[in-house]
Formats: sequence, structure tokens, C-alpha cells
Amino acid sequence: MKAITFKSKGEYEYSKDYPVPEPRENDVIVEVSQCGLCGTDVHIYNGEFEANFSVVIGHEFSGTIEEVGDEVTKFTPGDRVTVNPNTICNRCEFCRSGRENLCVTLPGLGVNSDGGFAEYARVPERCVYSIPDTVSFTEAAFAEPLSCAINGINNARIEKGDNVMVLGSGPTGLLLTQLAKLSGAAKVVSTAKRGKRLEMADKLGATETVDVTEVDLVDVVTEVLGEDGADVIIEAVGSETTMKQSIQLAKPGGRVVWFGVSSPELEIPVKPFEIYRKELTIQGSFVNPYTTQEAVDLLAENKVKVGELVTHRFGLDEFDRAIDAYSNDDSRIKVMMEP
Ligand SMILES: [Zn+2]
Ligand SMILES: [Zn+2]
Repeated sequence: MKAITFKSKGEYEYSKDYPVPEPRENDVIVEVSQCGLCGTDVHIYNGEFEANFSVVIGHEFSGTIEEVGDEVTKFTPGDRVTVNPNTICNRCEFCRSGRENLCVTLPGLGVNSDGGFAEYARVPERCVYSIPDTVSFTEAAFAEPLSCAINGINNARIEKGDNVMVLGSGPTGLLLTQLAKLSGAAKVVSTAKRGKRLEMADKLGATETVDVTEVDLVDVVTEVLGEDGADVIIEAVGSETTMKQSIQLAKPGGRVVWFGVSSPELEIPVKPFEIYRKELTIQGSFVNPYTTQEAVDLLAENKVKVGELVTHRFGLDEFDRAIDAYSNDDSRIKVMMEP
């Protein structure tokens, strides 16, 4: 089958005769329809995120069940599904205490074992979710990023009437903006460096948008939010600038969620006095504990719009073009691979 594997930093292989996976007892084989290209994949490609090189990459995928293992009970061939790629061990302290996203074995498919940039993927039954006919495969490929965004919003503990700032309007930033609005935020301010993304944030429910190439966010925060300031800041970029700003922008008593994936080497200066004096809560947010079904439900209920985020589509044999579009095309929001 066709598949893309990463070989080493900056090097991938497109293969036409990668072995088709066989199901083990509790696995299904999914014929992959769509698989999103995620920042994490690009970080792995650039050597900025730890992964098992030589595995098939891609963790945001949907498709049709082709084959099931002997012990599989919930699915049959032909079922339309999406996947939670974060396979867990079910044994460690974290799995046993309801914090599966901290499992010592994470992350899973597409990072440490074969994922979705291939014609077929082997997936444990417990990671598979049915999708209704009304949800397209493209939409279903957003279940994973959406489930991560739901975890980010849960961690932000938004209360009705809160003012929320979402720093960054990449694909997941735009999901966070929509979810913040759904959570009852009074104002949702979205920021971006690219006009197309600001337009999209505006369209998807941001009450204000800020072009950070034109103004300093810290200077304009009172202009856009008034004296009330921001109750919740969600950092969805992972850059030094936005990480620092997230602390500066929070009002006293505010909550800061670090959702963006920064380089593991990044260090930022922090003024402990500022955190002390403003009594800030700084909260990390990692992947998607127990949120995949909610993501599928939100897609089925059409409460979160994802289809229009797709700006580029490529076949597996066009991975160079996909990486180029991801990295260099200003109009890019979501790049979708179509195995
Ligand atoms: Zn992802
Ligand atoms: Zn575990």
C-alpha cells in the first residue's frame, strides 16, 4: 500500500509497497479516507518533537472499517469511523486514576506506531468511534484536533460572561475560538498574523479580532476588552512572544492555558511577582482525555464548523507540496492528506 514514513530529521519516504497491516485480536483495519497534516507532524519532520522514526506518520484520520480482529465486537466492515490516536497502556498510575492523557506510553498512532498517512491503518477497537452519515470524512478527520481543543477549553474553566482571548488562529486556534463562544464567553478575542485567518475567526464567532502584525497586543487589550480585561487567555501558538504575552495579558485572578506546542528547548523569562500579585493560574493542556465522543457529537450536531478550515488537499504522493503549503503558503489553514 501507499504510505509515508519519516526516516530522520527532514527526511521522509513515500512508499508504494508498504505492508498492509493485519488486525490483531482487538484491532480493526481502517481504510483511511482523510488525514489532517498537523503541526505535530511538521515538528516531528523538523526534529522538534520526539517520535519513533520509521513509523507511518499522521494521527488525525477518518475512514471505513475494512477488516476486524476476532475479539472485536462493536464494529463490522463498512462502518464509517474516526480515531483517537492516543493509545494508552491502561495499567499505569495515570490510566488507573482517570488521567489517561498523562499515560507513560503516549502519544500513540502516527507518532510512536503506524498512523494515518497510508491507505490502511491498524487501530485498537477502543480507539475507534462511529460517525453518523451526516458527518463527512473530512469533518471526521477533525475529531482528534477538536477533542484536544475541548480539553483545552475544559482546562480553561470558562464561566458564563468571561472575556476570553485566543492567541493564534491556526486550525486549532479556530476550534478553540468556536468552543470558547459555545462555553458562554461574553467576548472572544482572536489574534493572528494572517488576514485570511482573522476573517475566518470573525466568521466563526470571534467578537473581536486583532492583527498582531499591526499592533502590540498588550497595548490594545484595554481597547478591545475595556477595563474588564481578559479572564482567560488561551495560548495556541507555542511561540516565545505569545507565551510571554499570555501572562502579561491576563487580568488579576485570570487563568492562562498553554495549549500551543512550543519547542521543548524554549525557555521564557517569567516575573514571579506578576503571577503572585495577579494570583494567576497557569495551566498546561495536553491531548484529549475522554473527549473524543464529545468531539464527534459536536461535529454531528454541526455546532463546530470545520469543513471550511481546509484550504489544501493532497495525495500521499504530493507530500513535498503539502509540507511546502503548510510552511510557506499564507493562505493555509488546514492541509488535508487524502490517502
Ligand atoms: Zn494533531
Ligand atoms: Zn497508562
